[in-house]
Amino acid sequence: MLGASAGAEARDADTYECRYTDCGGQSSRCIESCSQTAYDRGVTERIAILGGTFNPVHNGHLVAASSAHEQLGCDRTLVMVAGEPWQKRASEVAPAAQRLEMAQLAFAGVHGIEVSDIEVRREGATYTVDTAAALAGPNRELLLVLGSDAILGLESWTRASDLAKLVTIAALTRNGEGSLVPHKRWSSVPVTMPRLDISSTEIRQRVALRQSIVGLAPPAVCEFIESRHLYL
Ligand code: ATP
Ligand code: MG
Repeated sequence: MLGASAGAEARDADTYECRYTDCGGQSSRCIESCSQTAYDRGVTERIAILGGTFNPVHNGHLVAASSAHEQLGCDRTLVMVAGEPWQKRASEVAPAAQRLEMAQLAFAGVHGIEVSDIEVRREGATYTVDTAAALAGPNRELLLVLGSDAILGLESWTRASDLAKLVTIAALTRNGEGSLVPHKRWSSVPVTMPRLDISSTEIRQRVALRQSIVGLAPPAVCEFIESRHLYL
């Protein structure tokens, strides 16, 4: 079941002091998943993963990744570019190498955030559960950063129950709004960010209509799209 939770699950918040992040321990899910228990069981590395098709990467992705990195106190945040997205039609998706290059341009020099090619290099369809299993380690905590659209589809993901054991969901939440909470088998924490109504779909549509995409994606990405004649 999915539902808005802002504060609905508050438990012992006044007696709890999070030692790992600044989350304030505002929900029971947070207490169970992200902080003190992880800290106590010897987690020494916290890695956030923002997965997506990035077709193309845009400013919403930049703000999402940097908000998660900062608010979750991550050691590393990986921008995970999907190889062959099984949920999307092949004809609309730019080649993985180009989506990867655009992501590298977008995140170049952003401290702590790395663009990963492990899904692009893997043969066959891309499943997040395989990526999480490859990254998992005894002293590592993995946080999967998801927007509300992705959270709504989470239950249909391949081997969702295995994935739920490997990751904590970092639910992107618009400033001032409640966060969407996945099914109770997932542990989750909120990450707030300003509302940025930008999507890759809109960028592709604007390019196809010869409309400007200035301000929607970093300049280097806009230039890349133009010079390679993508999305026309
Ligand atoms: P498309 O329109 O092709 O579906 P998209 O803009 O949704 O593209 P994806 O690569 O599908 O981009 O998304 C990767 C992740 O980034 C998902 O978790 C998605 O929810 C999140 N995301 C995408 N756009 C935004 C945005 N504007 N603000 C916050 N999160 C976003
Ligand atoms: Mg999307």
